[in-house]
Amino acid sequence: MAEKETEIKGAEEKRVLNFVQQIVADDLAAGKNGGRLNTRFPPEPNGYLHIGHAKAICMDFGVAEMMGGTCNLRFDDTNPQKEDTEYVESIMRDIHWLGYDWGDRLYYASDYFPRLYEFAIRLIKEGKAYVDDQTSEQIAAQKGTPTTPGTDSPFRNRTPEENLDLFERMNAGEFEEGSRVLRAKIDMASSNMHFRDPIIYRIIKSPHWRTGNKWNVYPMYDFAHGQSDYFEGVTHSICTLEFVPHRPLYDYFVRELAGDKVDEYCPRQIEFNRLNLTYTVMSKRKLLQLVKENLVAGWDDPRMPTICGLRRRGYTPESIKNFLNDIGYTKYEALNDIGLLEHNIRESLNKIAPRVMAVLDPVKVVITNYPEDREEMLEMDNNPEQEGAGTHKMPFAREIYIERADFMEEPPKKFFRLTPGKEVRLKGGYIIMCTGCTKDADGNITEIQCTYDPDTLSGTEGGNRKVKGTLHWVSARHCVDAEVRLYDRLFAVENPSAEAERDFRELLNPESLTVLPHVKIEPYLAQSAKVEDKFQFQRMGYFCVDPDSSPGHLVFNRTIGLKDSWAKQQDKQKTVSN
Ligand code: ATP
Ligand code: MG
Repeated sequence: MAEKETEIKGAEEKRVLNFVQQIVADDLAAGKNGGRLNTRFPPEPNGYLHIGHAKAICMDFGVAEMMGGTCNLRFDDTNPQKEDTEYVESIMRDIHWLGYDWGDRLYYASDYFPRLYEFAIRLIKEGKAYVDDQTSEQIAAQKGTPTTPGTDSPFRNRTPEENLDLFERMNAGEFEEGSRVLRAKIDMASSNMHFRDPIIYRIIKSPHWRTGNKWNVYPMYDFAHGQSDYFEGVTHSICTLEFVPHRPLYDYFVRELAGDKVDEYCPRQIEFNRLNLTYTVMSKRKLLQLVKENLVAGWDDPRMPTICGLRRRGYTPESIKNFLNDIGYTKYEALNDIGLLEHNIRESLNKIAPRVMAVLDPVKVVITNYPEDREEMLEMDNNPEQEGAGTHKMPFAREIYIERADFMEEPPKKFFRLTPGKEVRLKGGYIIMCTGCTKDADGNITEIQCTYDPDTLSGTEGGNRKVKGTLHWVSARHCVDAEVRLYDRLFAVENPSAEAERDFRELLNPESLTVLPHVKIEPYLAQSAKVEDKFQFQRMGYFCVDPDSSPGHLVFNRTIGLKDSWAKQQDKQKTVSN
């Protein structure tokens, strides 16, 4: 999509607008809607929001914020069978967490049920809607194809009086669910399939969470959405591409509703591409299934693509917004690389996450020439990427833990970690040399022995002496146990939605969660960590504190490892194209 540069009122710098923002800016510049800008985000409260919704939210709220407009939050609660207040609350929390607010513009499609019902009655009276007694299968079979016209329902020519009577009795609860529907009488030969007498009302007898048992008929989404936009004075109704063919139908209903007034004001629908991400699914139905069948720990499981899952995983709103900016808004469908999302969270956390030490798979090291009763407090940088982040103290003593993988008795070439006869630096501390190790009957290393060089402390002159490897570590006597949860991708295949012939649950990655119950963390971390706090564990990645933590038992989620394959790939591409 070509991007033009436009100057935005009040913006300090020139920005490159995406095509949606450009359309809105042009409308504002042309003085449409009296210079008013009002968007809306219209979730159905039948699940938790995912990162695809975040793409819509950042557009709907973002463009309003950028150009001095407002954005409504409207719950599209037209299906009482699937909706719940739990979802309503989670949706509000997630939008707020992303940094947006709807102020006093909170709406529910159910508030418009009386007006929509009245409008339906009017259409019936004008001969523009009829009650059809056929089953949904029969109706579908008569739809025709895009190239062949549909077949008229045998009930199409009922009189307005009969239709009115039947529709009112449908609403009074006289008929069973599925036995009758109300259809708009438009054109069974239209080239747009949505115009072939669409169903606009159906019977549902479950109580609605807001309107209770007041209604026995409920409007279809297509009969509620465009009119709701109109009722609220929405100027720009931004949605995803699958609604392109629905747009003429929304315009039709609004025109029927508003008559000539539509020339003064009609919501303008603009469509952009959905977000699809590799190694996950975005379908609310599938996500609900994962939750219901306990294939994940809940909607906020850190492996889920939900906003609450990402939050629990340690994602920041900034990283999500940056990612959405990177992929942009276009007019064609795409599958976006989850590696780019991960790249953005690394960038974000690199700037803000304090550096600490934790040993995930510990093995003990005894520094034999360090006195048993001695301990030192060493000074550690909190974050070299953040000016003024300061330092904290970390204890050092005769016994420490290092990662088991950082020691090899018989190393291959280019192993620059600890090995007999070789030196490494302890991060922020001394250089140590390995003198031997002890093994159990099965040959597992139980202890490593080293000596340290007292003249090599980091931060002193001797600290400049270079050795090939630097290891993270914690003091055995001072460290605290914690639980760490490591995550891998939720699905084992790149595009689970494309594998139509397989049950998507078979495609789950069986190794997406690894729990390490006995991780050794430095005391500073144990003392300062609060739920949702984010840290870089030196050399091991970015971690955040999980709400499952309790006093004395910290639980950490690994947000993401340190290695950024996305950045590397981009660098390579740059080198190739240079
Ligand atoms: P459903 O199948 O239940 O309708 P939905 O994901 O479309 O699922 P809605 O609650 O209707 O859920 O979505 C609210 C808004 O979020 C809509 O405007 C929709 O276009 C947008 N949206 C949903 N999924 C995505 C996605 N993957 N990328 C971008 N926008 C999305
Ligand atoms: Mg939808």
